Amino acid sequence: MNERDSEIIYSLMIHKGYIPVKLYEDADVIIFNTCAVRRHAEDRVWGKLNELKGLKAKKARLVSGFMPTDVADRGVIIGLVGCMGKAYGKEVFKRLPHVDFVCGPSNIYDIPVLVEKASSGRRNVCSIARGSRSLDREKCSKGFARSLYLYREDNVSSFVNISYGCNNFCSYCIVPYVRGREVSRPREAIIEEVKYLVDKGIKEVTFLGQNVNSYKFPDRGSAAGKNDFVRLLEAVNNVSGLERIRFMTSHPKDANTGLFKAIAGLDKVCEHLHLPLQSGSDRILRLMNRGYTSGRYLKLIDDMRMIAPGCAITTDIIVGFPSESEEDFEHTRDIIDRIGFDSAFIFKYSPRPFTKSLEMDDDVPMQVKRRRNQDLLDLQAKKARENNARFIGNIENALGISPAKRPPDSSGDVSDCYIKARTRKNHQIVCKADRSLIGRVFDVKITGVQGNTLIGDMV
Ligand code: SAH
Ligand code: SF4
Repeated sequence: MNERDSEIIYSLMIHKGYIPVKLYEDADVIIFNTCAVRRHAEDRVWGKLNELKGLKAKKARLVSGFMPTDVADRGVIIGLVGCMGKAYGKEVFKRLPHVDFVCGPSNIYDIPVLVEKASSGRRNVCSIARGSRSLDREKCSKGFARSLYLYREDNVSSFVNISYGCNNFCSYCIVPYVRGREVSRPREAIIEEVKYLVDKGIKEVTFLGQNVNSYKFPDRGSAAGKNDFVRLLEAVNNVSGLERIRFMTSHPKDANTGLFKAIAGLDKVCEHLHLPLQSGSDRILRLMNRGYTSGRYLKLIDDMRMIAPGCAITTDIIVGFPSESEEDFEHTRDIIDRIGFDSAFIFKYSPRPFTKSLEMDDDVPMQVKRRRNQDLLDLQAKKARENNARFIGNIENALGISPAKRPPDSSGDVSDCYIKARTRKNHQIVCKADRSLIGRVFDVKITGVQGNTLIGDMV
């Protein structure tokens, strides 16, 4: 979601006439788009911003020709935006007086105006008011909506927001406080955006929402159906020229067999489900306010495997939640072992501002969190190796994404071309294939595995 927000920020600035540069030294404006989900990411942002104090002073000196007494004299405009912006607001200026503006994730459309204000000498410019991203964007002209795609990370695959914010209030999670309550975008706006992207050559879209399964057609009010997300998938499946549809994140309390049938039955919907488990202990799941038990999760996986056999499943896990015992941890370990996820993000719990779990004692010592984290990483690596080995010899459908380097122990001619591609199950694959296949789908025979990357030849 942050990656898509960063593309929007780039696009807004390009629309205003700015151009992206690679080095801080060359920039007139430096914007940090931040995540507040875990403490570690935040600490890195504070560190990076602190490092820019010197650059700002140097640039201000260059601009004004004298040594400023106040490093906030212009030279380079520095902004902290995104979830940390919303979480810390004006406190940022107290901690780091050389930051010029702060803005929350719901206010990123204001950034060009904030930059203008800061450039004209206004101090401590802050825009964090709205709780949830306003749908102003939908009311804007088509031209404006399109200008939000002036910058894209790649020209084959694109993120598309379908909802903003979250209503679930998992006890450890800052998202509902910084991104606000859940708001779904109108179906027409989403379809129009997908068509526009397909027109521009995009072949794959990934729908983004904190909980895509609770997507509701906003125009239907209380008549909104339980499976509006599946209806949306059905509608977008009809967009001609589009090859693939992905989505994240699904929440186990709301995912159901209707969704699995859509994965199995709609030809463009890819066979990959990201379904965060968080913990295998029912006691911890209750404390996390997740709204399901490990039994329900396992039943969902069984249903999924029955309805859409071969579908890849990935997950998120938190270790060291307050009061997590060895026994609780073993339940998580056991489920990872039983399910054999294709991949898993494994995080060490960190207490976050505003959240319910902040009131709980963060009583699992750091070395225990580290050990549990490493233990699960090792187990998951073993499971992924086993899963990947099963692909060798298979023919998989791939979408060419970008040029790639020759894999280290590949056979064949040194002049062979390689490209990076993605299977429908979301595995990265490097294959011997002509660069003209970037942006196209084709079949690949899997010949090997290197780390988490499959190696293959076009067939
Ligand atoms: N909406 C998604 C993702 C939310 S944030 C979902 O419900 O799964 C991404 C992941 O960060 C979460 O799935 C969780 O595993 C992790 N996370 C969130 N808050 C955390 C915290 N306080 N400490 C450690 N990990 C956390
Ligand atoms: Fe956070 Fe839970 Fe919402 Fe995901 S579902 S964003 S973990 S509150």
